[in-house]
Amino acid sequence: MNVDLHCHSTISDGVLTPSQVAERAHANGVQLWALTDHDEVSGLAQARAMANDLGMKFIPGVEISVTWAQNTVHIVGLGIDENCPRLNEGLTGIRAGRTIRAREMADKLAQMGVPDAYEGALPYAANPALISRTHFARYLIARGYCDSMQKVFDTYLGDGMAASVPVHWSTLEEAVGWILEAGGQAVVAHPGRYNYTPVQFDAFFSQFKDLGGTGIEVVTGSHHPDEYVEYARVARQYGFLASSGSDFHSPKEGKLDLGSVPALPSGLTPIWHDWI
Ligand code: AMP
Ligand code: MN
Ligand code: MN
Ligand code: MN
Repeated sequence: MNVDLHCHSTISDGVLTPSQVAERAHANGVQLWALTDHDEVSGLAQARAMANDLGMKFIPGVEISVTWAQNTVHIVGLGIDENCPRLNEGLTGIRAGRTIRAREMADKLAQMGVPDAYEGALPYAANPALISRTHFARYLIARGYCDSMQKVFDTYLGDGMAASVPVHWSTLEEAVGWILEAGGQAVVAHPGRYNYTPVQFDAFFSQFKDLGGTGIEVVTGSHHPDEYVEYARVARQYGFLASSGSDFHSPKEGKLDLGSVPALPSGLTPIWHDWI
């Protein structure tokens, strides 16, 4: 079965509308699909309507920004009720912090010789309530400051780089709590991207499980194939359900297109085992 449970639309930092993402997923053969915009659920109604029209099974999702041990981690919620008030209050709070941070990033970029980056990034953010580093990166690339997304993060905007602004997103307790309250399952997104020590990773996975988290992304466009093996091991060790998704943002960015996610390693229970 072709499953893709992680991707983005113009509601966050993707470049296709929710309907267009649904169409591309379907055209690429996806049979079970979730839209998981960052900190925002307002694209789900449009995504669901198009998925229904196309006859593609739809799972409502979200990708929540969390700060844990002074690093950003992402927790995906799958099968959520997007009308849950607690979830929406929480996400509204996270989005407010993004605008303040965007202005601070622009000030730092100006000091590094990149003027007016806030004004430059804003037209790339179709949803002005959700401005992200990705929108800044697209502007910097369009203006020739960098030639790739990775270069922008390595040079300017990555955590700890000169134009990055540390943010306090939600706590792990909050994010998992909102997802559970909304009737969803909480999933650790792309664990291979986090710079934790083995001791920190163990504390993180243990706390996530204690809070009621159930899943971990094993196969994602944000992982190298050797990380599929590593996080399959982690899933077995902690008894997590395995998830997979492209983390698609744009036809021109990222490693995996919608619907081209390799199969999970054997011996894992997929998070979708009782959805199909
Ligand atoms: P933000 O949520 O505003 O902090 O922006 C983070 C987003 O930047 C991620 O969701 C990715 O879409 C994108 N991104 C691309 N490359 C990187 C990278 N090397 N490190 C962090 N984020 C990246
Ligand atoms: Mn993103
Ligand atoms: Mn992410
Ligand atoms: Mn993502």
